[in-house]
Amino acid sequence: MSGQAVRYILKQFIFCVKSISEIVTRSTFSTDDLVALLSSKGAEREILYAKARQVKESQTGSKIFFRGLIEISNICSKNCLYCGIRSSNPNVVRYDIPDEEILDVCRFAYEKRFGSVVLQSGEIQTKKFTKRIGRLLKKIKQLSNNELGITLSCGEQSRETYRHWFESGAHRYLLRIESTNRELYYKIHPDTPRHSYEKRVEALGILKDTGYQVGTGVMIGLPFQTVENLANDLQFFKIIDIDMCGMGPYIEHEHTPLYASRNLLKSKQERFNLSLNMISTLRLLMPDINIAAATALQTLDPLGREKALTVGANVIMPNLTPLKYRKEYLLYENKPCLDEDSEYAMQILEERLISAGCEIGYGEWGDSKRFINRLKK
Ligand code: SAM
Ligand code: SF4
Repeated sequence: MSGQAVRYILKQFIFCVKSISEIVTRSTFSTDDLVALLSSKGAEREILYAKARQVKESQTGSKIFFRGLIEISNICSKNCLYCGIRSSNPNVVRYDIPDEEILDVCRFAYEKRFGSVVLQSGEIQTKKFTKRIGRLLKKIKQLSNNELGITLSCGEQSRETYRHWFESGAHRYLLRIESTNRELYYKIHPDTPRHSYEKRVEALGILKDTGYQVGTGVMIGLPFQTVENLANDLQFFKIIDIDMCGMGPYIEHEHTPLYASRNLLKSKQERFNLSLNMISTLRLLMPDINIAAATALQTLDPLGREKALTVGANVIMPNLTPLKYRKEYLLYENKPCLDEDSEYAMQILEERLISAGCEIGYGEWGDSKRFINRLKK
């Protein structure tokens, strides 16, 4: 390479680093700014991470919060093209954890001073399911003297169902939009009324009207997805003013239709890096929301969730699902912690978090500061 070419490349590199250091100081971001942040690599990325860490500390504090995840049922009426537990996958043994076992896990979470639990399931829209979740919510509140916070992640439901669950004790709801690009949405979902993009967006609005702290998110590194799509996803989060975000890498699953497009995927390392860039960029865009370090990060890097906590995330959701059910909640391949006892996994996680310099908010709900600020207004 000629001396002139080397000088040119060096100049371009210095220009990029300079512009990233300038972009991170802004308080509003254009979509081009977001694309630049999401595309950052090497020294630029370190600038982004350092700034996101600083913003997180100053806006949400140094603590991170636990939400004990219980995957209560893998029965689902939907057929999302990426998901291992989609209804048309005949290889899945379907389960529904009995109430008493779910309540035992909640007792464990309460005794271990988890501030909250998350009940997650496939999408079931029957009266029986609605009533059952309502009963469970009340019992979880009773067994914990009203102390355990409860997040639900049970898909799209009617306004009445969301209200019933809210009145029964749930106060946060996670419903990922998966992708805000309509075209991409229908590349990863069947184009049927049951999988309507508009209904998904509407459900997020209903959740907010009902009074929940609302969380959404997307999968990162999907086939057909561009960095511009991801920048627009972030803008969407800001526009609908979310309180929480849970987003993580897309990971393929052999028994799903989207597996056929695996040749379009970025490498796992690239998807991991892009996921960390999304988390840190969102921290700059929405400084006071809660951001979860998604479980899927751990599939791509054994310390993936801990790394996310150092670049802007402040919530972690250790899996408390009883071991005998876990292998049937295989959303994607190589899902972590399938045979790891909850108590042992917690011990390791706590040690790792403490050595990474994290302070754990034991027994605290760790509500979204953005939500609290909005209520005050
Ligand atoms: N059924 C509810 C819903 O869809 O909102 C909640 C459970 S669903 C399994 C939770 C999340 O898992 C989805 O929002 C989706 O983003 C994620 N997921 C499913 N398949 C995935 C995959 N192959 N890779 C990464 N995440 C996946
Ligand atoms: Fe069902 Fe949720 Fe999986 Fe879609 S992502 S198939 S709704 S469990």
